[in-house]
Amino acid sequence: MLQQAREILKDSFGYHTFRDQQEEIIQTVLSSQDTLVLMPTGGGKSICFQIPALLSNGLTVVISPLISLMKDQVEALRANGINAAFYNSSLSEIEEREIESDVLSGGIKLLYLSPEKLISSTNSWLSNAKISLVAVDEAHCVSMWGHDFRPEYAQLKEFRERLSDVPFVALTATADKTTRKDIIKQIGLKQPKVFISSFNRENLSLEVRANVPKKQKIKEIRNFIGDRINESGIIYCLSRKGADEMAQDLKGYGYNAASYHAGLAANKRAKVQENFINDKTNIICATIAFGMGIDKSNVRWVIHNNLPKNIEGYYQEIGRAGRDGLPSITILYYNLRDLMVLKRFAEGGAKSEVYIDKLYRMLNYAEATSCRRKILLSYFSEHLPENCGNCDVCKNPPTFFDGKIIAQKALSACHRTKQKIGTNMMINILRGSANQDIYQRGFQNIKTYGIGKDVSFKDWQHYSTQLLNQGVFEIAYDESFTLKITEYGRSVLFEDGAIQLTIPTDKPIKQKGGKKASKKKLSPDEELFEVLREVRRGIAVKEKVPAYIIFHDATLKEMASEKPTNQLDMLAVQGISVIKYDKYGKTFINAIEEFNQSKLNTVEATHELYKKGLTVDEICFTRELKQETIFSHLCKLYFDGEEVDIQQFITQAEQAAVIKAHKKIQDFTSLKPYFDFLDSKLPYYKIRVGLTLLAKKAK
Ligand code: ADP
Ligand code: ZN
Repeated sequence: MLQQAREILKDSFGYHTFRDQQEEIIQTVLSSQDTLVLMPTGGGKSICFQIPALLSNGLTVVISPLISLMKDQVEALRANGINAAFYNSSLSEIEEREIESDVLSGGIKLLYLSPEKLISSTNSWLSNAKISLVAVDEAHCVSMWGHDFRPEYAQLKEFRERLSDVPFVALTATADKTTRKDIIKQIGLKQPKVFISSFNRENLSLEVRANVPKKQKIKEIRNFIGDRINESGIIYCLSRKGADEMAQDLKGYGYNAASYHAGLAANKRAKVQENFINDKTNIICATIAFGMGIDKSNVRWVIHNNLPKNIEGYYQEIGRAGRDGLPSITILYYNLRDLMVLKRFAEGGAKSEVYIDKLYRMLNYAEATSCRRKILLSYFSEHLPENCGNCDVCKNPPTFFDGKIIAQKALSACHRTKQKIGTNMMINILRGSANQDIYQRGFQNIKTYGIGKDVSFKDWQHYSTQLLNQGVFEIAYDESFTLKITEYGRSVLFEDGAIQLTIPTDKPIKQKGGKKASKKKLSPDEELFEVLREVRRGIAVKEKVPAYIIFHDATLKEMASEKPTNQLDMLAVQGISVIKYDKYGKTFINAIEEFNQSKLNTVEATHELYKKGLTVDEICFTRELKQETIFSHLCKLYFDGEEVDIQQFITQAEQAAVIKAHKKIQDFTSLKPYFDFLDSKLPYYKIRVGLTLLAKKAK
């Protein structure tokens, strides 16, 4: 079975190896056990039910809350030659009948079904289908404790009861401990095997900027995107108006930006989304309505213009950056006004306590002075043993001290009150307040009463935030928000668990100017990548699918650096399945060969001018290229055995210096180490000439 799963991974999806846990999950699902999968966005959840679906006899039903997401996944599967379909309110009656008969005749392996259609379908036509697996995607939507509760998901329980022999797999990217328990209960999973992948997305850098005035903020943002003119990014705004204003401002400065929110007509929204996916628009200024169900892999940065409502949402939103695993940047701006606005929103609705508390956890994160990634991960009950080194706090660390005593005082206050108190009560006990609540509950008599008198209320808040953030405590939303001591907390209280806390401080704000859009110079691989993107765009338009359905950016990047020109090398690239090779392989090979040819020609063109006796400066002028580039051509020609005199460009002493540096550095691939080693005294072109002479001798 596993062997077959691996073959499907390569042949149908184009991947060589399973990622962390995918293999075990697939094995569990195939053994007909119920399964709960927690994996971050971009982690690779889909394959965990898609491969079992292909290995099962009957139909796999996938419950998914979003129409766009269903469409996307079905298109991606079909592009790989897998029979899949979706069934939701976007279909006409004729289309519905067609899919029904395809499903019943066994022509469909995977059926994506909206929760709205679930019960009506099972009561009618779907009851005749042989269902062998059910996957519940975005499973946190079933829980009121989650951040995205959808009442339609309540129907799942009935569905589960009807299909009591069929294995269910529930998958989500966001679930705290409370929500996790609730998912199992609400769907009625039977002794599920739970898989929790690391939520750590190391490639995302984290940064928070607090209380930056509006004008300054937009300048900083322009500056930031001005340095990344060809990259895709998302700016999340709190309101529709905010999103429109931001897009307007950026457009005014020449940036390729658009706004997206629920206030736009559906066809306009679809267009904006499509342009972003196809790289026609680089920057989207959006409310949180944007991004659900977008699998664009090359989003290089995400900026939050305002404080998000909760950590789950924030993590999901920044998670839309860097799905291809390449380094990506996230920046969060917030000020206290955001907090007030959000609080007012939260107070209006049902479950307002939960929402307000989640908002405060978000604020705690924003105000944190310890490694931000640790905080995020601890929110998802994951303990990161080391600081991450890729967040603003790690890069610019505050002053730490051994916080064991502080932590033990707080922990012991909780422990001695049987973990039935919240943060404020804990601080009041520690500070020995003569508070009525304390007297009523008799807390003035416990041993920890007043042992933290020497620390101010504000500083205790600062420490409590860190204790929560570092995973010493957890908040139980379903038990009046009381603090619970975690495993790690217990080790700090009773054993040798260590903890570092920071001295409370205020952070300075960065000052920068604004910037207009301008083009940047590309390396040859980047150039080829752009060429391949164009090829992909052409195919996507012809086939009327989003570009990433053809190939992900990560696949094109690998193509651009490996430059495969035959079938074997092409199939070795991640993301190229057999069927995709058959469909597109030749087209991309042709593009690569053409590119290689044009690169050869540029060196040849320099050669021709050199042979006519032009100087380097004259060649630069004629060809409109930089001196560096011309020298690289001349060096290549010399290295390939052409009659080009490069010796004239370097003195003997300079050559000796390069040789000496090479003894230390031992590498021909990069010039920068030589430049640094020689104290910036030798220009790059001389280093290149020196190394070429040396390499030629060694050849
Ligand atoms: P999720 O649903 O968890 O957000 P997806 O299932 O959409 O994530 O997968 C994210 C990306 O990772 C997709 O582009 C997918 O094709 C890719 N992927 C999944 N599994 C693998 C694998 N084993 N090797 C390489 N890429 C993979
Ligand atoms: Zn960090």
